[in-house]
Amino acid sequence: MNYEKLAEILFPNITKTPADYENEFPERQLPEGAKVTRLGPSPTGFIHLGNLYGAFVDERLAHQSGGTFYLRIEDTDDKRRVDGAVEVIISSLKFFGVSFDEGAGLTEDTGDYGPYYQSSRAEIYQSFAKQMVSRGQAYPCFLKEDEISAIRAEQESGKLTPGIYGKWAKHRELSIEEIESRIAAGEDFVVRLKSQGQENSGKTFTVEDAVRGALTMPENFQDTVILKSNGIPTYHFAHVVDDYLMRTTHVVRGEEWLPSLPIHVELFNTLGLKMPVYCHTAQLMKIDDETGVKRKLSKRKDPELSLDYYREKGYHPAAVRDYLLTVLNSNFEEWRAENPDAPIDSFEFTTEKMSNSGALFDINKLNDVCKDVLLRIPAAELAEFMTDWAKEFKPELTALINADPEYLASILDIGRSGAKPRKDLMYAEQIFDFISFFFDDYFKYEDEVPENVPVEDYADIINSYLETYNHSDSQEEWFGKVREMGTEKGYAAKPKDFKKNPDQYKGHVGHVSTVIRIALTGRANSPDIWEIQQILGEEKVRERMNSFINR
Ligand code: GLU
Repeated sequence: MNYEKLAEILFPNITKTPADYENEFPERQLPEGAKVTRLGPSPTGFIHLGNLYGAFVDERLAHQSGGTFYLRIEDTDDKRRVDGAVEVIISSLKFFGVSFDEGAGLTEDTGDYGPYYQSSRAEIYQSFAKQMVSRGQAYPCFLKEDEISAIRAEQESGKLTPGIYGKWAKHRELSIEEIESRIAAGEDFVVRLKSQGQENSGKTFTVEDAVRGALTMPENFQDTVILKSNGIPTYHFAHVVDDYLMRTTHVVRGEEWLPSLPIHVELFNTLGLKMPVYCHTAQLMKIDDETGVKRKLSKRKDPELSLDYYREKGYHPAAVRDYLLTVLNSNFEEWRAENPDAPIDSFEFTTEKMSNSGALFDINKLNDVCKDVLLRIPAAELAEFMTDWAKEFKPELTALINADPEYLASILDIGRSGAKPRKDLMYAEQIFDFISFFFDDYFKYEDEVPENVPVEDYADIINSYLETYNHSDSQEEWFGKVREMGTEKGYAAKPKDFKKNPDQYKGHVGHVSTVIRIALTGRANSPDIWEIQQILGEEKVRERMNSFINR
């Protein structure tokens, strides 16, 4: 067979060779040990936590080593392409602090290794495929849907491995004449790898995975499709060509790609190209709320898989980043405990410390991390974050916030100083809910006064409270007055006194202050009353007290 001739028949318009592209995209000039990583999302419009998780690994590996992290849009599947998806990818990742050094952009690409949209690279893939055909390493296959289905049915009934290989690879040895006449007749064809592997040959290969260590797997024996009938590559082929030409050193991708690794290894070897280091990351798992069983996060069942979820709820990107590193690297939590104020980038991320058996995602844990991270963010900065969030997701709050931005900052600062700071704040939506009583429009009575306090005491307590209320009292003076007032009205000065002799008292000082707390905040639980009053101002305090007894 004259393979050179066959290659010309199949690709008459392809004039450049892989060597031309190699010259066009030479090795990158980077410091020794610098890593080049990429994110290769498909523009489906859905960007999820798994993307961010992977992007984070890519970003860390590249930037920790003085390398390059680029964005490549894997848009070879027309059916899945959604308008605006690339914008969503770029802006969502940016929001969470992941930025690219080069690659696909909205209006134009940046970098010398593009184009970065796979749909603009058809000729490049075809050039590599043409070379393979010219060397007898790939061939056109005209098998139609129904023929392939018949093969599959036969394989199923014989309990054989499905696929096009061995005797099922029926078009491996078509003559040039037959190929020409089929093409002349307008028959569609795909290009398949002519695999050199054999099923059950016992031959294996070993790849050193940066996350999983040495992986030994049986060689590929499938005549995998490399170019589809429209001349567009499959993922397998596109990834090999792109990661080579873009000089990627580390391929970070989900473990769902492990089964196709033998194909990729054979493709790299056939093309004589150096393989990147693979980092197959564990799937994100969660404990199912209903069954208690660990399972993969699902787009259908778990809204928290989508990155939009975190933006809408108002999770702070710094908290999400800290949380993801907690999941990604087993030693991060300890490091964070020892370095509470260190910038996250000073933590040394390593692929060896990554779990390879399913990374457990737990929203409660994320919320806990948020409490710690938010505590480290100055209140004024948090207020700004809340303002931006409101603008986008709760526009009805913006007027309220903008009316007095410092008011919001002082509210957010309550109870955050001192040896035992409060950890109430998790994400914007929850925070707003938590502080909503500071705003008259959102104030409502949510809790009941404790039973120990008879209804007829309410007005009495509040009136006495107002009589002695002095807005400039210190916290101690203020509490001293509440205690005194309580004792006068038959409430124990200390909860333990009441516990010891419950018949002697109506209740204790805590019950009295709960009446004040509910009048002030509408809630039985809140941060420190005195601090809240300082922020609300005397007038508002008196107004709230009066409204409570007159309700
Ligand atoms: N386009 C592939 C995906 O979205 C990328 C896999 C890879 O990173 O190699 O799953």
